[in-house]
Amino acid sequence: MNEDSILPSTHSHKAFLFLEGSFVTIIQTTVACHSVRAIFSITVAVLSVCASLFSQTRRPIVLLFAGDVTLARHIDSDVGSRVDYVFERWHEIGEYDIFTVNLENPITLYDRPEEKEFVFKMHPRYVRTLAAGRVTIVDLANNHIGDYGARGLDDTMKYLDSAGIQYVGAGRDLEQARRPIIIEKEGEKIGFLAYAGGTFAAKDNRAGFAPRSESYIMADVKNLRSRVDYVVVSFHWGAELAERPSQGQIRLAHNVIDAGADLVVGHHPHTLQGIERYKGGVIAYSLGNFVFGGNGLSSYPTAVLKVVLQDRSATVELVPIQVTRWQPHLPSDLVRAAVFDLVRDRSQMFSESISFSTGASR
Ligand SMILES: [Zn+2]
Repeated sequence: MNEDSILPSTHSHKAFLFLEGSFVTIIQTTVACHSVRAIFSITVAVLSVCASLFSQTRRPIVLLFAGDVTLARHIDSDVGSRVDYVFERWHEIGEYDIFTVNLENPITLYDRPEEKEFVFKMHPRYVRTLAAGRVTIVDLANNHIGDYGARGLDDTMKYLDSAGIQYVGAGRDLEQARRPIIIEKEGEKIGFLAYAGGTFAAKDNRAGFAPRSESYIMADVKNLRSRVDYVVVSFHWGAELAERPSQGQIRLAHNVIDAGADLVVGHHPHTLQGIERYKGGVIAYSLGNFVFGGNGLSSYPTAVLKVVLQDRSATVELVPIQVTRWQPHLPSDLVRAAVFDLVRDRSQMFSESISFSTGASR
C-alpha cells in the first residue's frame, strides 16, 4: 500500500462527545423507568442505536494539493488560446473534492509591472484552465502575486470570484489576507490558511499576502483549530532549488502542528522535498512545480499530495505525476518509482515519514 494512516488526536474528541451524549440518554431513561427488566431492554436498545450510528460510514473526502502553478510566459507562447489543453489528461488522477494549488501569478491585463527581475502575469482566459482542472482553492500567498501591485491582486480576486474559485493568503488588507477558508463536506469541516515571506505583505490598510509572521500564524491556527476538524496551513518558503528545508522551516512547521494544524504544505523551491510525520500531523516541505510556465521546461516529473478524510481519520499519500508538454498526468511505473525514491531519500532526515510504494500505479 502506498498509503499511511494517521489518526490525529483532534479527530477522536468527537467520539468521546458522542459517547457522553449516549450515556446521558441512558441515565435519563433509567430515571424514568421503574422496572429493572424495562431498564435493561431500553439500555440495550439505546446502545444498539448508538452502535449503528457509529458504524455509519460517510463518503471519503479527497483533497489534492499541488505546488507552483504559473499559467504565464511560456504557457502563453506554447498553449495560447487552447484553454482546455493543460488539463486534458488530468482525469487520469481520478475523483477528488478539493484541489488546492499555489497560483504564482496575478490574473490581470494591467500593463504596469513592479520593478523586479522576473514578473508573471496570467491572462484572464486561463481562469477557464483552472476551472477545467477543477481547481477549487488557490493559495495567493507567494512572491509573485504582487508583480502587478495592488491593482493586479485586486483583478486576480475579481476574476477568481467570478469563476467561483476560492482563494486564501492574500487580500485587500491584513484582515482579509489572514482570513481562513472553511469548507464543509460530509460533515467534516476543513480549514485552510496560507502565508508567504518578502515584500508585498498586507498591512492594516494595504493589500498584499498574509505575512509569515509566527505570532500571526500561531493565533490564526489556534483560532481555526476550534472551528474545524482538519487544519491545513500552506507556506511559500525555503530557498529556490534547495533539496531540503532549513532548520528554521522545520522548527516553524513543528510549532504549527503543535498549535493544532494537521497538515503543512510547502512550495517555492521548485523541487520536491521530503515529507515528515510529526506528532500525528504531516509536513510536505515542498511540492515542487506543478504546471509552471515561468521557465521553458515543459516536461518533467513531479508529485501531488492526496489526503483522504473518512471516519475521523486522515490518510496522506504522495502521488507521482508526469508533466508532458505542460499536461500533468499519471506517470510510467519507472518515473513513479524514481519520484518515490527521490522523496523517500529526502525524507531520511526526519525520524518519521509517510510510506512510499513503488508498486504498479495502474
Ligand atoms: Zn515562489
